[in-house]
Amino acid sequence: MSNIKKLNRAAKIIGRQIFPAVGFSSWLRQTRSALLKETGVDVPCGECNACCKSAYFIHIHPKETRTLSRIPKKLLFAAPGLPKGHVLLGYFENGRCPMLINDACSIYAHRSLTCRNYDCRIFTAAGISPGETDKVQITQRIRHWKFSYPTRRDRDQHAAVKAAAKFMRERAACFPAGAIPGNVTQLAILAIKVYSVFLKYIDESGKIKRISSDSELAKAIMKANAKFEAGRHTPNK
Ligand code: SF4
Repeated sequence: MSNIKKLNRAAKIIGRQIFPAVGFSSWLRQTRSALLKETGVDVPCGECNACCKSAYFIHIHPKETRTLSRIPKKLLFAAPGLPKGHVLLGYFENGRCPMLINDACSIYAHRSLTCRNYDCRIFTAAGISPGETDKVQITQRIRHWKFSYPTRRDRDQHAAVKAAAKFMRERAACFPAGAIPGNVTQLAILAIKVYSVFLKYIDESGKIKRISSDSELAKAIMKANAKFEAGRHTPNK
């Protein structure tokens, strides 16, 4: 049994769970790398499977043949707005994924990239809620994640990710139509991709002070996203 599992088992006695804090810069670097390389992330979930019970549609790429072969076709439907072959796995009325059986993923070794890449710490990083009504379990979970800040850079990067998410939410009208996702998961991921735009606006006290206009910032964000996407690998699973 891992130390985390031992701690969590002990913690159940007092009705709470213990989650390890992770350095923000280290987490950010690994998360951006996983997004670029489509390798999946190593999340210390312990016994938590809240994301499998939180009413998520799971996108599956047509190249993910091992995943597709393990899911009954009747549970899949065409993904709106994506090319032919891209599908979504739906969820039951209670928000549970149909592949979650006896509280465990029945296709764990072959789960999709969407599932492998899911890391609910993106919401803690971006300072946004995953959704109070249909994502109750995830919302509770993210309250327990803690980042640590061993250096000034850790704090500055976290402030920049939060500032990027806030700006894109509040100034969506400055961007071309459809550029800012309405989906909060995608918004948090976008903030992680473009955070560096805000780094230069952080003052000595760690606060964000802007001198650029909203439209200039929006352009810089679009450029940063295009640069990030240009480095992304194509899934080949
Ligand atoms: S496929 Fe497995 S990992 Fe993905 S949401 Fe369903 S139960 Fe969870």
